[in-house]
Amino acid sequence: MMKNTPIIQQGSCTCGQSTFSVEGTPLVRFICHCQICQDIYKKPFADVVIFPEKSVKLLEADSVEFKKFRAPPAVNRGICKSCAKPVFGVMWVAPFTRFAFVPAMNLADSTQLPEAVGHVFYHRHVNEMYDGLPKVSGYVSSQLFLSQKIFKSLIQHNFSA
Ligand SMILES: [Zn+2]
Ligand SMILES: [Zn+2]
Repeated sequence: MMKNTPIIQQGSCTCGQSTFSVEGTPLVRFICHCQICQDIYKKPFADVVIFPEKSVKLLEADSVEFKKFRAPPAVNRGICKSCAKPVFGVMWVAPFTRFAFVPAMNLADSTQLPEAVGHVFYHRHVNEMYDGLPKVSGYVSSQLFLSQKIFKSLIQHNFSA
């Protein structure tokens, strides 16, 4: 697929009550094995796509509650008030820029998404992964790995968040 094709599509939580629009290029897709993702997704890991924050907009702000599940710097996670499942999250990755973390399964068309760059928070993994992607363990290493991938992608797309 073409790397710089902007995606304009709608997304929603599992129950469909909380909807959002996504416009622009996905920066990084990754698989997160952290405990919080396991708890809120009720799955062994989460498949997550990062966009610039301004690319993702809630269509009905009332349906979503934002909360942090650990001390900053943490993802401010938008949870659907109806199904209690994640809608998308927002996080500061650098002092000057915020990113949206969107579960791939919440996007209507996941065929347009890039391949995952790797597995992070792998020290928490429940399922052994055999896909050959990099596996990063540890909180700081996982954050660093993602930040590097985000900025590499920003430079590749020649674009500021
Ligand atoms: Zn919902
Ligand atoms: Zn996680």
